[in-house]
Amino acid sequence: MADSTAPMPAVRCDACGADRGPLMKLSLGKDFFGRTYDRLSPSSDASPKWYCEPCSMQKNLQRDFRDIKTEIDKLHSGQASALTAADQLQRAHLRLREIQALTGSQVSGTRLLDPADVASLLQRVQAQTGAATT
Ligand SMILES: [Zn+2]
Repeated sequence: MADSTAPMPAVRCDACGADRGPLMKLSLGKDFFGRTYDRLSPSSDASPKWYCEPCSMQKNLQRDFRDIKTEIDKLHSGQASALTAADQLQRAHLRLREIQALTGSQVSGTRLLDPADVASLLQRVQAQTGAATT
C-alpha cells in the first residue's frame, strides 16, 4: 500500500469511553424550550465533547429530561414556567413518552437516565396535561 494511513483523532466518547465510531460532537446550544442552553457540565464547558451514537442520543434525552423536570418543578412551586403554555406542555408530554420508549429499549453504552425517573416525570406531566385539558 502506497498511501499513508490518515491519522485518526484520538477521541473517545465522553460518556462511556467507547473509541469506536462514529463519534459525534454535540453542540447543545438550545434547550428543549428553545432557550439558551443551561449546560449539563459547566465546569468542562470549554472543551468540546464527543459522544458515540448511543451516548449522543442519551445525552440529548438527558438534556430534554432535565429541561422538562426543571419546568414542572417551577410550575408546581408556583413560579413562572414554560409549561404553563398548553402547547409546550403537550410537547413535553410527547417528548417524555419518546424518552421513555428510547431509554427502555437501550441496551448498550452508558445509561445516563434512570427509566424510573423518566416514568415518574412522565406521570407528573400527564397529571398536569389532564388538569389543563379537562
Ligand atoms: Zn458512548
